[in-house]
Amino acid sequence: MTRVVLITGGSRGIGAATARLAAFQGYAVGVNYRQDAEAAGEVVRDIERAGGRALAVQGDVGREEDVERLFEEVEAGLGRVTALVNNAGVLERQTRVDGMDAARLSRVLTTNVIGSFLCAGAAVRRMSTRRGGAGGVIVNVSSRAAVLGSPGEYVDYAASKGAVDTLTVGLAREVAAEGIRVCAVRPGIIETEIHALGGEPDRVTRLASGIPMERGGSPEEVARAILWLLSDEASYVTGALLDVGGGR
Ligand code: NAP
Repeated sequence: MTRVVLITGGSRGIGAATARLAAFQGYAVGVNYRQDAEAAGEVVRDIERAGGRALAVQGDVGREEDVERLFEEVEAGLGRVTALVNNAGVLERQTRVDGMDAARLSRVLTTNVIGSFLCAGAAVRRMSTRRGGAGGVIVNVSSRAAVLGSPGEYVDYAASKGAVDTLTVGLAREVAAEGIRVCAVRPGIIETEIHALGGEPDRVTRLASGIPMERGGSPEEVARAILWLLSDEASYVTGALLDVGGGR
């Protein structure tokens, strides 16, 4: 049976690295994106050039109707979804909590928390052996921020990742007897474009010396952890939160 993985936010950064590695390991890959069709198309072209199968699928994970449609499109194009990587995530300009308004909080929590819940729910409805599915794996992309809190930068983002951790632990136990494993990775400071959203594209350079390994991580290093959690090598691992932070 072909393994089909849907990767939310698969067009850039950690999601794109995960898409490429998954394809290399034999998965057919649904590459979800919200607005950057060109970037998603590039990931798909790379995978196809290497002999793999992939499909770019537009959809905002925070919108219920988009989530249902994106699962349907991936299933129509690639087959039954056997794995989900809940990777899409956003943060906003660095500021203190006393500078955050409801609109910002709503945007961050809608993508990071509601998006992860909606995609996880859609995946369980398809994977659960209780509903006639064949089982599957969900890997949520949390952050070390969930533990560290991101003071002075984005406590809202950190709190959203705390919710992702709780989703991971709770859902893992909820569906453990239905053939579904649920885990999370908690990356530290990784070289991607997300830091530009916070207003500091060079954040990795600024903070590198404070990381025990004295460097930021690469998207590929996170992708390898995600692919291990997705694999049968991790068959007895569920509810686990795997730190990928160079000791941070
Ligand atoms: P990134 O380079 O900014 O890429 C984010 C991806 O998410 C893009 O593909 C983007 O697509 C997509 N996306 C954003 N909002 C979306 C939405 N509402 N619906 C669907 N797709 C959406 O980010 P990254 O650094 O790779 O981060 C990936 C994940 O890792 C996030 O959950 C982030 O919180 C987590 N993480 C990152 C770091 C780090 O240091 N980089 C550390 C810890 C955790 P479009 O371009 O089309 O909008």
